[in-house]
Amino acid sequence: MYITNFQHFLDEQGNIPVTMPKEARELANFFALLVDDASLEDYDAAPTIRCIEKNCEGLIIPIMVFDTDEIHWSCTRCEAKGIITGWQGTKWDNR
Ligand SMILES: [Zn+2]
Repeated sequence: MYITNFQHFLDEQGNIPVTMPKEARELANFFALLVDDASLEDYDAAPTIRCIEKNCEGLIIPIMVFDTDEIHWSCTRCEAKGIITGWQGTKWDNR
């Protein structure tokens, strides 16, 4: 279970820093995709984002939890799952 405050991956301009180590950047890009997807008004829950676990070919289903304003995500194949907070108002917030 990953609990992620998305703000921790962003610089003061709200961007994913280019100086960030590759692995952290990949993770940041992964979370950005999930925020982008889950915050779409007409989100249809058809998963398109690949799982971050090595050797997993599953897709990630992100779900907006309106009560807590969190994005919960889980993989269709493996045990990977997590919660994203701190995504509101970022460049990937489509609301
Ligand atoms: Zn997976």
